Amino acid sequence: MRLLLSLLVFLAFAVQAQKQIVITIDDLPTVSKAYATPEGRLNLTKKLLSHCTAFQVPAIGFVIGNSLRTNSKPDSNQIGLLKLWLNAGLELGNHTLAHKDYNNISFEGSKADIIGGESIVKNLVQQRERPFRYFRHPYLRKGDTQAKKDSLEQFLKQRGYQEAPVTIDNSDWLFSRAYDNALLLSDTALAAQVGKQYVTYMLNCAAYYEAQSDSLFNRQISQILLIHANTINADFLGKLLAGLKQHGYTFVSLDKALTDTAYRSVDHYYGKGGISWLHRWALTLGKKGAFFKGEPEVPAMVDELANRTVNLPGR
Ligand SMILES: [Zn+2]
Repeated sequence: MRLLLSLLVFLAFAVQAQKQIVITIDDLPTVSKAYATPEGRLNLTKKLLSHCTAFQVPAIGFVIGNSLRTNSKPDSNQIGLLKLWLNAGLELGNHTLAHKDYNNISFEGSKADIIGGESIVKNLVQQRERPFRYFRHPYLRKGDTQAKKDSLEQFLKQRGYQEAPVTIDNSDWLFSRAYDNALLLSDTALAAQVGKQYVTYMLNCAAYYEAQSDSLFNRQISQILLIHANTINADFLGKLLAGLKQHGYTFVSLDKALTDTAYRSVDHYYGKGGISWLHRWALTLGKKGAFFKGEPEVPAMVDELANRTVNLPGR
């Protein structure tokens, strides 16, 4: 009996330790200042995918349609990068044609941007008999008025899309901009320093949203991490994935994560903020200032480096 009890306690612990996380990667094929040539972009993509393969991560990538064209014509190099994603067995979703900010455009404008992205990417994906079913909002903006939010939600549903939520929001793009600048300055020590701080920062973000999940649901929901197809992830995603694994996470698909009942929570938030779904649900429940405190901050050094103007001749 005692043995059985210890076994049950152990199993309960093991189940709790298996926290789930989805890795979602935005702005495909690539978004990088340091890797701006076709060879560079190929290199970045290969590195990014090798991390996903090494950790058996069923990641999903969200594609910006316009990035697959050069001078209004299909760009075979860029399209080739997407094929690598599909070859790696990863899913792709719609991230609009021109990545327009819904705060600055009408519902009709957003609709056109979504259909435009679809017209470029959907065929590529379906030729490989793969699903094209998820939509990621640019800047996580879902509508700054009730009417815009409702219209967009309804349109996505009608068009057969499921929204791809984000629970672990962060500023990976700012770190990558700083990292790009360090590389363009050929300062490898500085780049390494930014990379190290990046991994720490991202793990702190995961811990912060774990605490938010606990406060809101009294448990660990399946988390959805947003990162970008940028330089810093090409070089440091492996370290980040290792850290998440060490913190008890297993990597699951978006499909699987969305079966968590948390994603049926009501979201009445509308406004200019592109914020975590955990915060949308919290605001809907009337949570106030104190609930949101403690979000990790980007170190001042990274912020400064990211915003420095680095011009190198010939690049
Ligand atoms: Zn984006």
